[in-house]
Amino acid sequence: SLKSRNALVTGSTSGIGLAIARTFAREGANVTINGFGDAAAIETERAAIEKEFGVKAFYSDADMTKPEAIRAMVKEAKERLGSLDILVNNAGIQHVSPIEDFPLEKWDQIIAINLSAAFHGIAAAIPGMKARHWGRIISTASAHSLVASPFKSAYVSAKHGIVGLTQTAALELATSGITVNCISPGYVWTPLVEKQIPDTMKARNLSRDEVINNVILAAQPTKQFVTADQVASLALYLCSDAAAQITGSNLVIDGGWTAA
Ligand code: NAD
Repeated sequence: SLKSRNALVTGSTSGIGLAIARTFAREGANVTINGFGDAAAIETERAAIEKEFGVKAFYSDADMTKPEAIRAMVKEAKERLGSLDILVNNAGIQHVSPIEDFPLEKWDQIIAINLSAAFHGIAAAIPGMKARHWGRIISTASAHSLVASPFKSAYVSAKHGIVGLTQTAALELATSGITVNCISPGYVWTPLVEKQIPDTMKARNLSRDEVINNVILAAQPTKQFVTADQVASLALYLCSDAAAQITGSNLVIDGGWTAA
C-alpha cells in the first residue's frame, strides 16, 4: 500500500502517466498530476481521483521545457503535503523525421521534456527524500533507451540519456534509502503513438494499417500493445518494499521487442 505517501507524476493528464497516477491513488497515495490539455477535462480527472480513491489530488500546469517551473512544481508538491516521496518523470513527446530534416526546435524540445526535465525534477526532489531516508524515483524511458528506430533521433537520444541519468542518480543515492529506476515500455496505445502515425506514413510511404501492423507491432514479438495499466503496475512494484534493492535498473516491458 502507498498510504501516507505523496507522489508527483509528470505528464499525467493522459496515457501512461495518468494510469500511474490513478494506480498510486488507488493504493492510497496523494498525487500531484501534471501535463497539458483541456482545463475542464483535467479538473474532472483530478476530482475523480479524489472521489474514487479517497486521497488528495492536485494539479500542476508546469511546462517540462522550463527548468524553474519544474523545480517550483516539486517544491510546491512537497510543501503542500509535507513530503514528496515518489517522483515519476514521465512527460514525453515524439517527433518523427530524418536527421537531415529534423527541426532544431523539435530536437531541443524533446531533449528538454524527455531528458532534462527528469534531471531538474530529481535535483529538486532529492533533499526532501534524503531527509526522510525514503524515496522512489522512476522515469519512463522506452525500448528506445536500448535500441534505435530510424527517424527518431531526438527521442532515442533522450531515452538513452534517461538510462545514464538513472544509473548516476542511483549510485549517488545508494545509501540514502532512495531507489532510482526507469521503466522501458514497448509500444503502448496512447495519444503519443497515435499522433506519430501520419508522419511515419509519410516518412516510410506506408498506409495507416501498414504502419500499425508492419512498423509498430512488427517490433513487438507478442504482436500486442503493452497497456498503460501494465506499466503502472510495474511502477507500483518499484515503490514497494520488495523492490528496495532494485536501483539503477532499466526494467523492460516490451512484448519481447528488445529480445529480438
Ligand atoms: P501521452 O501523449 O498520452 O502523454 C504525454 C503526457 O506528457 C501528457 O500528459 C502531456 O500533456 C504531457 N506533456 C507533454 N509535453 C509536456 C510539457 N512540455 N510539460 C508538461 N507535460 C507535458 O503519451 P504516453 O505514451 O503516455 O507517454 C508517456 C511517456 O511514456 C513518455 O515519456 C513516452 O516517451 C513514454 N513511452 C511511451 C510509449 C508508448 O508507446 N506510448 C512507449 C515507451 C515510452
